[in-house]
Amino acid sequence: MTTFSDLGLSQKVLSAVTDAGYTIPTPIQAGAIPPALQRRDILGIAQTGTGKTASFVLPMLTLLEKGRARARMPRTLILEPTRELAAQVAENFEKYGKNHKLNIALLIGGVSFDEQDRKLERGADVLICTPGRLLDHCERGKLLMTGVEILVIDEADRMLDMGFIPDIERIAKLIPFTRQTLFFSATMPPEIQKLADRFLQNPERVEVAPPSSTAKTVTQRFVAAHAKDYEKRAVLRDLIGAQQELKNAIIFCNRKVDVADLFRSLERHGFSVGALHGDMDQRSRTTMLANFKDGGIKLLVASDVAARGLDIPDVSHVFNFDVPIHAEDYVHRIGRTGRAGRSGAAFTLVTKRDTKFTDAIEKLIDLKIEWLNGDLSALPAPMESFDNGKSDRSKSDRGRDRDGKRGRRNDTDRGASSHKSDTKSDDIAIASEAVTTTKAEPVRTERKAETKPQNSQRNGNRNASAPYPANDDNRDRRNRYRRDHDDGPTPVGFGDDIPAFMLIAGKA
Ligand code: AMP
Repeated sequence: MTTFSDLGLSQKVLSAVTDAGYTIPTPIQAGAIPPALQRRDILGIAQTGTGKTASFVLPMLTLLEKGRARARMPRTLILEPTRELAAQVAENFEKYGKNHKLNIALLIGGVSFDEQDRKLERGADVLICTPGRLLDHCERGKLLMTGVEILVIDEADRMLDMGFIPDIERIAKLIPFTRQTLFFSATMPPEIQKLADRFLQNPERVEVAPPSSTAKTVTQRFVAAHAKDYEKRAVLRDLIGAQQELKNAIIFCNRKVDVADLFRSLERHGFSVGALHGDMDQRSRTTMLANFKDGGIKLLVASDVAARGLDIPDVSHVFNFDVPIHAEDYVHRIGRTGRAGRSGAAFTLVTKRDTKFTDAIEKLIDLKIEWLNGDLSALPAPMESFDNGKSDRSKSDRGRDRDGKRGRRNDTDRGASSHKSDTKSDDIAIASEAVTTTKAEPVRTERKAETKPQNSQRNGNRNASAPYPANDDNRDRRNRYRRDHDDGPTPVGFGDDIPAFMLIAGKA
């Protein structure tokens, strides 16, 4: 069996890898590290979660041991599609480079130019950037790219999704042709193949099969729900309340606008919750993530784009508020729990519109996922809308700004609108019978004294997440629903433009 010491890495790197607790390289590491050390170009087809980051960080560290950086002339450049991924790569350099004295500069948006300029002035051995910020620095004349020996393009297919390819082409033109290029992508659509053909010279191709199975240690369940968001939110709250073993959880939404909505809703209901989506400023994202990792917040509502690749070691639960449109995303999301043989639980809220996506998921993972308390046919009969649809802003409205113009959606839209268009009253019913609850609500936080009491408290109902008895008539159910569960329509005011400071979670 191949071990790290067989790969040709330096002693300093090997010792840091041992300290990190790794002995056996993952397939992408075993395949990519030796040719990378021979200065070959690499075409790595691998997703996050496969150990891909170390497959370029470790050989880079070894190669960087010879030579030193000059002011404003970085020696290596790593391009990442998101700030979080860039920050995570920087963390990897710190972890594996602890025996080196290298200058690592992280150039990402949302951080002051001055601080970044000072780092560049000192001379960076490794520059880790999102494409936009790098070009900003180049345009300010603070950066000379002619000394770059190694270029890493990570997550190329996501760069394509996010519209970064023209930026990458501009950047590549600034770097000497003689550079070594390490190029990684989870998938190889024709546009990416073309890019790889242009950027790489005689590359070593290392392909790792995308994960198509979920860990056996994860209990997976589908949970039937009606399509209206406020109904799904009620089902989710009940579901969370029912989990005795819930330590922390990531709740995935398909669209960033839904991340903001669900975050606000859960917060209003007293949950210890934070949010992570593409529109948040960097400081809020970093604080949020650190808070979640430390256990300061128990629930993190996130979009796929914001959460992808984040290394959060021990998550007990994953909730899919929306069924992911791409089955691979399901595997990716579920992979956040049940790591390293630990047990985990993953619940996916499924509406009638989602069946083609759930079919694709079951096909991909080759597993029939059980339903919690009955499938879609067991949902209670739909009820008419209590607000006659007047006050609940529809999905299609919520994509618009206050002037009614359609807002920019570059983060998690990915065709979700067709699958989640506004619904008619036949989707509206109380779905709460589908789940049972317990008294323990470990993820709820006490409201501050000055906060207005919740409806449920005003009404003396202490168990706000109790399921509705099946024999309640519609009016009772509707009233109780409004009193205890409903977030109602999205209030007009901030609309969807939630200010970043409001998303900064305090310690619970
Ligand atoms: P990545 O695909 O780079 O996001 O890595 C996913 C996770 O795998 C991270 O938590 C790494 O710390 C971990 N990891 C990286 N290399 C190894 C290895 N050889 N053995 C076990 N875990 C690893």
